[in-house]
Amino acid sequence: MQRVQQDSRQQSPQSYDVIVVGGGHAGCEAAAAAARFGARTLLLTHKIETIGAMSCNPAIGGIGKGHLVREIDALDGLIGRMADAAGIQFRLLNRRKGPAVQGPRAQIDRALYKRAMQAELRATPHLSLFAAAVEDVLLAEDGSVAGVRTADGEEIRAGCTVLTTGTFLNGVIHLGDKQWPAGRMGEQPARALAERLMALGLPMGRLKTGTPARLAAASIDFAALIEQPGDSQPQPFSFLTKEIKVPQRVCHLTATNARTHALIRAALHRSPVFSGQIQSRGPRYCPSIEDKVQRFAERSSHQVFLEPEGLASPLVYPNGISTGLPESVQRAFIHSMAGLEKAQLVQPGYAIEYDYMDPRALAPSLESRQLPRLFLAGQINGTTGYEEAAAQGLVAGLNAARHASGAAPMLLGRADGYIGVMLDDLRVRGVVEPYRMFTARAEYRLSLRADNADQRLTDLGARHGCVGAVRRRAFAAKRRALAGVRAEAERLTLSAAEMQALGIPVSADGRRRSLLALLAHPQCDWDKLTRAFPRTRRWPPLLRQQLEADALYAGYLTRQEADIAAFRRDESLRLPRQLAYDALPGLSKELAEKLRRVRPANLGEAARLEGMTSAALTLLWHHVRRRTKSRAA
Ligand code: FAD
Repeated sequence: MQRVQQDSRQQSPQSYDVIVVGGGHAGCEAAAAAARFGARTLLLTHKIETIGAMSCNPAIGGIGKGHLVREIDALDGLIGRMADAAGIQFRLLNRRKGPAVQGPRAQIDRALYKRAMQAELRATPHLSLFAAAVEDVLLAEDGSVAGVRTADGEEIRAGCTVLTTGTFLNGVIHLGDKQWPAGRMGEQPARALAERLMALGLPMGRLKTGTPARLAAASIDFAALIEQPGDSQPQPFSFLTKEIKVPQRVCHLTATNARTHALIRAALHRSPVFSGQIQSRGPRYCPSIEDKVQRFAERSSHQVFLEPEGLASPLVYPNGISTGLPESVQRAFIHSMAGLEKAQLVQPGYAIEYDYMDPRALAPSLESRQLPRLFLAGQINGTTGYEEAAAQGLVAGLNAARHASGAAPMLLGRADGYIGVMLDDLRVRGVVEPYRMFTARAEYRLSLRADNADQRLTDLGARHGCVGAVRRRAFAAKRRALAGVRAEAERLTLSAAEMQALGIPVSADGRRRSLLALLAHPQCDWDKLTRAFPRTRRWPPLLRQQLEADALYAGYLTRQEADIAAFRRDESLRLPRQLAYDALPGLSKELAEKLRRVRPANLGEAARLEGMTSAALTLLWHHVRRRTKSRAA
């Protein structure tokens, strides 16, 4: 029997508390979380050198996704710190909107990210890394999963097993009319394992995703393009990172045009999606360029961001033109765009189809209900994106370790964080297309902000054994400091006359207002406040931001808490049969149409409709309550 290729540090004892299969974003977090809990953990993956690889875009975070990164970080996960160590352009998205929907995002140097992740895992106590292809799961007499069998026939036993196999299960790449089995470009798929899971009766389905071509940076005419710089003061993802030390880079902006669209339209019959070669659904919110040209036929242009793949990388990632069209068509439509007339395609874009497991078959801990002691996380559960995968990985890895030690799982609900929202969406509604996070999915988003993720989750994580001593100490110090500045902000007050002198319009009602209350005033900013209270200059910028966000939402939060309680009470509220969904302001056309077609009897039924968002449910709830009240009146 050929031995599994192993990490130089340790010998495989062939028995662990937790085995994690896969070294992608879910696998890394799962293995690290299990090991932080103290479980003897083995990470098994095809190749050690691809641990932490980013299969698609060189970026982490964004709207909704940035919230997930901060929450993972608050639970002492890795993705935030690794992104800080590899980020080459940081931007806070939605800066002009309120803090609740702002999303931290960074361009990432792929090589630095992988290096940082691999170094972190190698240095993690209780964790071993081995390269092997897993082909089978071992079953105990009671039908639970007792470990795995590798392609070499080696059996490795574990208390619990976590599968995080990404796009590899029965993966098939499509490039025009060509197709071949692969997990991602240049890597073998996991076919035997996919077949075994199917044979064990797990409810499997098929999804697809895609990626654009990679371009040679030297062949792009950047002078003809608009530069897109990052924030002048990069804001780290991690609550532990003091400052970003990696040199920063600019991105560039180009766009498709009428000629690009004509070339794509003329070749649609050669796209694997439009020719019928691919039957499965792709991510609606991250569509291919051929999808966009078809679906938004009225638009004559789509933005394309040219993102550097790293500080020393010769490659550029053209974000916005993922495609499965043949290489010759890709070359032609890319050359039709400004700055890309002579662009050299180093690797063509492609689409990939793969097996996933219906997440409705999972318990809230991410354990399979059919196969006890088997946990699943990441793209295998029907999601798309590094952040979604990482968040599930942390939950599954921790809960696998807790299960193996006999402890109850850590459960996260919709009111705890975006992670809870995602787990609930996946388990209750399932997926019909790859699931990605965005802020509209969270109904309690005023309280679930990226800036307060640590206050929501770090204590909870510490109680469940996934937060290490360094973070516990840092969090305790921050909490003390925040309480200190908050108390001071309540003590420091201004009279109406003092406020008017600062240019803050207020009625002369004789009341003094606290600094905390003033922070919510639309015409008050830190410039004015530091003039009035010079000592606040010493307050750390992050604490100031936090105070400001809390003050801004204070009024709404009280209302939201009441909303949450009432919403839960009235979940079975009846929906009138003739409700005019089309006339409800704020409800998307797509959802209105679905509601009109199905006409659910109550809010509970509406909630279980596929594609229903929590924001839309809240809207329905308000509408029906208003109607009932006005009838009663
Ligand atoms: P992966 O990162 O895929 O990692 C899976 C790991 O499991 C790999 O290390 C693999 O070697 C290992 N593995 C698999 N099977 C076995 C086995 N049997 N034995 C041992 N090891 C195994 N996300 C977006 O947000 N937007 C996009 O536009 C987008 N496009 C994508 C396009 C492509 C072509 C691909 C491949 C992915 C794309 N993604 C996109 C998805 C993103 O890359 C994934 O969501 C994310 O990487 C999933 O993380 P994961 O940990 O679940 O799986």
